[in-house]
Amino acid sequence: MLPISNKLLAALPRATLRDILPALDPITLALGEVLHEPGRPLRHVYFPLTCLVSLIVVVEDHLALEVALVGREGVVGVSLVLGADLSPVRAVVQGAGSALRVTKAALRTALQGHAPLQNVLQRYANTLIAEIARTAGCNRYHLLEARLARWLLMTRDRVESADFMMTQEFLSTMLGVRRVGISDAASSFQRRHLIEYSRGHITILDHDGLEAASCSCYAHDAADARALPAWRPHG
Ligand SMILES: [Zn+2]
Repeated sequence: MLPISNKLLAALPRATLRDILPALDPITLALGEVLHEPGRPLRHVYFPLTCLVSLIVVVEDHLALEVALVGREGVVGVSLVLGADLSPVRAVVQGAGSALRVTKAALRTALQGHAPLQNVLQRYANTLIAEIARTAGCNRYHLLEARLARWLLMTRDRVESADFMMTQEFLSTMLGVRRVGISDAASSFQRRHLIEYSRGHITILDHDGLEAASCSCYAHDAADARALPAWRPHG
């Protein structure tokens, strides 16, 4: 069996994974690709392997705003698991890479036949709801610089690397602020040697320093990540 870097799939008992693997199609996702639109039918769910996907809320007459970030620790389209057919959010690829894609019908069949799959995905859904709720509070009460630090650390955790590509334009969409605000915050982090930022290439230099600059939300994110089903060994 292939090594599976998606942590939800990797947490499944081997027999379950063997049964559902034929329904999972390997796919490469490009930067900016839109996987789901709010109010539109969910046809597929995606288990990220190396890609990173933003869940975004679109509020009329305002900048779009990210409400959650999904990488190899999660799944995109979890509403299907909960019995809904329409997406509540826009899902956009913000880090190009690979994923495993499964159709709505195949997922529903797999869920009926495999209690561990249902269990792992429902528990992930609950973690995602917590992240979305926390982000709502974060966007309202925490300063941009602290939010940017949180967001950089969340991205690092999901791509499992201190180096990643991210344009200021994308960052401003993620955080729902103008580019100039992102530019000021990123410059401040560079002056303090927390990150290096050049032509969309971000390197985290001082992990502890960036955690100290982040709001308290990041500590909760990290605790939730440690408690995810995917962090447990094979059953
Ligand atoms: Zn916060």
